[in-house]
Amino acid sequence: MSSRLRPLARQLPAGVFRFDPATLAANSGDAWMASALPEAVAFPRNTAQISKILAFCHRKKIPVTARGGGRGYVGGCVPLKGGVVLSLLRMNRVLEISRSDGLAVVQPGVITGFLASAVSRKGLFYPPDPASLKESTIGGNIATNAGGPRCLKYGVTRNYLLGLEVVLADGTVVRFGGRTHKNRTGLDFIGLFCGSEGMLGVVSEATLRLLPRPPDRSALLAEFRSLPQAAAAVQKILAAGLLPSALEIADPSTLAAARKAIPGAPRGDSLIIAEFDGQPAAVKADLALALRLLRPSASRLSPALGTHSCERLWKIRRGFSYALRDTGLVKLNEDVTVPRGRILELFRLTARLQKKYRIPISSFGHAGDGNIHVNLMAPRGTQQDDPAMRRILDELFSGVLALGGVISGEHGIGMAKSPWWPKAASPDLQKIHRLVKRALDPLAILNPGKYLR
Ligand SMILES: Cc1cc2nc3c(=O)[nH]c(=O)nc-3n(C[C@H](O)[C@H](O)[C@H](O)COP(=O)(O)OP(=O)(O)OC[C@H]3O[C@@H](n4cnc5c(N)ncnc54)[C@H](O)[C@@H]3O)c2cc1C
Repeated sequence: MSSRLRPLARQLPAGVFRFDPATLAANSGDAWMASALPEAVAFPRNTAQISKILAFCHRKKIPVTARGGGRGYVGGCVPLKGGVVLSLLRMNRVLEISRSDGLAVVQPGVITGFLASAVSRKGLFYPPDPASLKESTIGGNIATNAGGPRCLKYGVTRNYLLGLEVVLADGTVVRFGGRTHKNRTGLDFIGLFCGSEGMLGVVSEATLRLLPRPPDRSALLAEFRSLPQAAAAVQKILAAGLLPSALEIADPSTLAAARKAIPGAPRGDSLIIAEFDGQPAAVKADLALALRLLRPSASRLSPALGTHSCERLWKIRRGFSYALRDTGLVKLNEDVTVPRGRILELFRLTARLQKKYRIPISSFGHAGDGNIHVNLMAPRGTQQDDPAMRRILDELFSGVLALGGVISGEHGIGMAKSPWWPKAASPDLQKIHRLVKRALDPLAILNPGKYLR
């Protein structure tokens, strides 16, 4: 047992602190390729315990790295400087679901998909839908401001935060916002903590906005002979006044991998999937209009009406990641985002990089948001600091920034994108970030070693 943490462990109920090698190893990494062992893992059961742990670590200057499901894609929860991993997984209760107020109050370790199902059973809807929703937590989603396919119509996690309870670096517990759907009292601190990747405070409770559950869905999978036709279809749908709940695109390289792994995968060169939700008559009408709009340019149209047949189309979309993984190559999944009108230029950039560096690049994602997952398919055994990959990423990110885009639309900066933070943020913007960090965490104990120092 780490001697400096022993006095703290003794003050807390048995089992809160774990020091065994298996637990340390299980809490050392996420879905990215880096890992580092902590000295201890703490599993607090309530806010008071989080506060006690932080107050102690603050006094002793011991690093604390918050951890949810450990499904981040950028090494955000890797305890780079050791110290304590604060796992929120045992704080996993849905405290309240209120139909009349349209909200849920949850602990941070609630798995997102569990909450979505629980509110759905009551006729309510929690829209944020990261593809990791069966394993990632609400706390992790808040700390990364996670999004998903539904962002086009419904927005990101931030848009569903009414209230937050946060434990600050010195153990102080602060509540922001509350149960109202509007609140103009003071600065938007909820927005500040949302997306702060565990570097400003630990989210210990959240009050989430819920919507009425849309009763019906329809969807359309449209295949095209070329990527420009698919990109044009995205614009056509939106220009016609349709607002799909999701609008996805996939490139030829992704579809080639999909055909090897997914039974019934589309034969076209490129595809889009549009989904509509709402009242039965409305989703039927939206689907009919989308079919009319895309019939002249699509090589094949597969419409779906109702949840069951929509899910059949989404099964294909959800299979893309696994199909790429099945190639056996190392998938470096970037989540760059460009202004929506420049998607085709982004695809041209990735095609150029593919040719120049002779590396397969498969791109697909949320066309409606301009957020495309650009997957560099690196040779087996590629490590995080591989210089060849760094060069390609450097060129990709420079190109994305030149298009007016951002280096991360979903996953955050964490460790993975830290080398490009100085390129992605102006000196003034970096300075403001440092000022905020110093004000809230002057001893830099929260998730140290990441891009905010
Ligand atoms: C297969 C797969 C698909 C994915 N799809 C998507 C997607 O569609 N959209 C998307 O946005 N992301 C996606 N991701 C990325 C990832 O799932 C999200 O970033 C998710 O929000 C991480 O949640 P988590 O609970 O696993 O957090 P962790 O990985 O445990 O932590 C992530 C960050 O949040 C901090 N943190 C965790 N809990 C707290 C807390 N209570 N208080 C303060 N800080 C905290 C950590 O310190 C870390 O910096 C995907 C990942 C995988 C593996």
